[in-house]
Order: sequence, then structure tokens, then C-alpha cells
Amino acid sequence: MQYHFYVNFANWVMQHCHHSVINSSRGTITGNMAKETKLEDIVSLAKRRGFIFQASEIYGGLAGFWDYGPLGVEMTNKLKAEWWKAMVTESDNIFGVDGAIIQNPKLWEASGHVAGFTDPMVEDTVNGKRYRADHLAGVDSNDLKELSGLLEGKVSPDGNPLSEPRVFNMMMQTWVGPVQDSSSIAYLRPETAGSIFTNYENVRETMRAKLPFGVAQIGKAFRNEISPRDFIFRVREFEQAEMQYFIRPETQKETYEQWRQFAWNFLVERLGIAEENLQWHEHEENERAHYAAAAHDIYFKFPQGFKELWGTHNRTDFDLGNHQRVSGRELSYFDEATRERFLPYVIESSVGLSRMLLAVLVDAYREEEINGDTRVVLKLKPELAPYRFAVSPLLKNKPELVEKAREVYSALKKKYGNVMWDDNGNIGKRYRRQDEIGTPYCVVIDFQTLEDDTVTVRDRDTTEQKRVSSAEIVKG
Ligand code: ATP
Repeated sequence: MQYHFYVNFANWVMQHCHHSVINSSRGTITGNMAKETKLEDIVSLAKRRGFIFQASEIYGGLAGFWDYGPLGVEMTNKLKAEWWKAMVTESDNIFGVDGAIIQNPKLWEASGHVAGFTDPMVEDTVNGKRYRADHLAGVDSNDLKELSGLLEGKVSPDGNPLSEPRVFNMMMQTWVGPVQDSSSIAYLRPETAGSIFTNYENVRETMRAKLPFGVAQIGKAFRNEISPRDFIFRVREFEQAEMQYFIRPETQKETYEQWRQFAWNFLVERLGIAEENLQWHEHEENERAHYAAAAHDIYFKFPQGFKELWGTHNRTDFDLGNHQRVSGRELSYFDEATRERFLPYVIESSVGLSRMLLAVLVDAYREEEINGDTRVVLKLKPELAPYRFAVSPLLKNKPELVEKAREVYSALKKKYGNVMWDDNGNIGKRYRRQDEIGTPYCVVIDFQTLEDDTVTVRDRDTTEQKRVSSAEIVKG
């Protein structure tokens, strides 16, 4: 019932929202300005309003690392909760795990990450073909700066521009225990999938799971990206939300389609992302990860262009097969109904939460003109907004208004949690500030409230105001 009040208001909003020009008691919105959203707009808003800060900024930052501020962590938590709900809570046969970031390094040997990621490489930026950077440069060197210099202006064997060289092994390395030698080397996981495969048998057994079933995980992953860029799009530490679905091999095609569709629907229906900002991208054979037999990414229209947001991959029995071989543990599945023993195939759904947050912010960001003034507004789905309500006394130097406002604030906070107290500056400024952080409703307590217990509720998207009894709001 928590959403009840919101639903009523959402209906009210819907009824008022069909026109591109809306006359309201606050002003006339003349639609979205023609300006394309730039990444700098988002970076600046994120910093200005406490979503995302440069990590260790006072020391000059560290490339590829970002800290999430009060609003950023709130939104990320909501994204995670939504994903978890759709993936795990609402499902009958998907189970959650939370694996350690550091695992036995043999896991990454078996997965192909250690052996596969060891050379400096460059990519043909047109057809995606990969080359040893040292071979193309004609030197025996692993020095990326040197290789970059030598390759400047050079083209690939197909005559196309080359990417910056990068070490193929992007795993971050550390040592476990007091001795730092080759026997104590370990890696920060480059993807969360690893501990899902190593726990496949534990989950199957403890949950008495039968195929098909999935294992889901949200957690940090680390990649030593050669050139982190585009704000939180390509970073060295990020959070992934992944689900590996274990199936009978003959069902791979339809299961793959099912999880592709899931990703698209989640972005559109649960996060409210506009479909025109999404497109499919099918991996060509030379683009695919070493483990994938098929891969479809959903691209989102980031300010720097359409780029990967969410991948669906058919990993076949690559991982279970390798882990079975390297660990010596039996990982095959025995189907009691058919009396068959086989290695399950895996369809993987994998999305980065920092990219998801960036996509949601970009999709929601608008600059609009109201009566000749520009306002920045985040038209977020209310369930995803950092704050659901902002509560203000009309004047902060009138104790009777403040007291009543505090009462409404406490009641709303008790019910919804994410409610903000805002008594800074005049009401117009408060509205602008709340628009910028996507707060769907601003509740103002004024002198009339003291007489008839009604408050003003101002809608973020239409800027319309409505008088509602305070009890009704709190009741929801
Ligand atoms: P890319 O081609 O962009 O490097 P990828 O194909 O290597 O990504 P996957 O290994 O499929 O990515 O990882 C799954 C998801 O994790 C991606 O769809 C993306 O959302 C996210 N992701 C991967 N690398 C990064 C990164 N460096 N920073 C932020 N998110 C990332």
C-alpha cells in the first residue's frame, strides 16, 4: 500500500501531462529545449547535488575510481533492489549468492582470465580484430607508453585506425598473506560470474534445485582498464549485477531469447528508460568474449553515442567444463527423469550498475524553459528518485509553520523513509533544487494549513500545485 498515494498522484499527473505546453499555477513549460544532453551536464549535476564525486578528490583523484555521495548511493541501492526483486525475489528458481571478491587464483586460471589476458593488444576500431601491440610495433616490449608512441598514426593490417594499446590481462593483482611472491598472488575478480560457477553445485544441492535454475549476484568487479573514461561509464572498480541460468543444452535458443527480452523489459518497464534510447547489438564472432557462443548487448544512447549497457551471453558449458577439469570435481548434472548425465549450459545476463545509473540519469535529464527561465529537471521514475517527497514550511522563521511542517515530515518519513526536509531559500529556489534531484513531490506547509490542515503538493513534471489534506498524504 506504500505506493497508493503515489499511484493516485501518478494518475493525476497522467491526466495533466499529455500536452507539450502546460499552463499551471507556477508557470508555462515550453517543453524540452533542443539542446542535446552532454556528459558534462551530468557530471556537473552529479557533483553539485551529491550524487557522485571523484574518488580521493582532495589528492587529485585516481583515474577510473569514483565515490558515490548521499544521492548516488540512494539511487544505486534502488537500482540494485529493483534488479534483485525482478531477478530473485519474484522468481521461483533463481537464487542469490554473495561471493568473495578474492578467490583462489585457480578459479581465474580455469576461467581463462589468467592465460587469456596476458599480452599488450590493440584493436582495429572498425572491425574489432585484435592484434599484439608489440608485434605491430615491431618491438619486444610490454611498455604501453612506448607502444602507444610507436603506433601513433599507424593503421591495422586492414587499413583501419587502431585503439590505444592495452594489456590484455586487465585483472587487478594483489597478494594474500604476509609474503609477497608468486605463490601468494591473487586477483580482484574481473567479473562476479566466477564464484557463481564455483558455487553452482553448492546451490544446486542445498536448494535441491533442478534445471533450469539460476544463480544471481550483485557485487564489485575490478578491471585495470587502460583508458578509463566517460565519467562512470568505463571505470576500474564497478558493480555488476549478473545472473547465470543453468539449462539443458537443447533449450539454449529459447532461454537465450527469454533473457534478452528480460533485459530489455527491465530497462523499459522497471526503470522507465525510453525505448528510442535503446538498441540491440549482436556480437560478431571476432568481438565475442572467449567464453561466449552468442552475445547480444543492449546499447544505450549515452551522450558519447550508443554504447554497451547490458549483455546477454550464451556461455555454453565452457565454465563448468573448465572448472570440472581444473578442480577435478564432478560438476555434471544427473537428470533423474531421463537418466542422463551432462554438463549444463549457461545463459548469462550481465549488467554494470554504474552504467545503469548513468543511463537512468541521462535518460531523465531535461533542461526546460519556464516563463523564460531555464530549469534542470530529472524526470526519474518516482520509485528511483533519491527522495520521494521534500517537505518545507513556507517561511522558516514562523515557528507554528515549522512545527506543523516537522509533523508532516516525520509522518511521511516514518512511512516512506526517503523524505527530505528543505527550508533553504525561497520556495522557487527549493522547487528548482528538488527538480534537479528528481524529487517527484514538494509538500509546502503554509498559513492555510494551520486553519484547514491542507498542504500544497507541487508536481515535479507539470509544476502544478494542488491542495490536499495532510492526513491524506500520510495515509497514502
Ligand atoms: P566493454 O566492451 O564495454 O569493455 P565488456 O563487454 O567487457 O564491456 P562484460 O564483460 O560483458 O563487458 O561485462 C558486463 C557488463 O559490465 C557490461 O555490459 C557493462 O555494463 C559492465 N562493465 C564492463 N566493464 C566495465 C567498466 N570498465 N566500467 C563500468 N562498467 C563495466
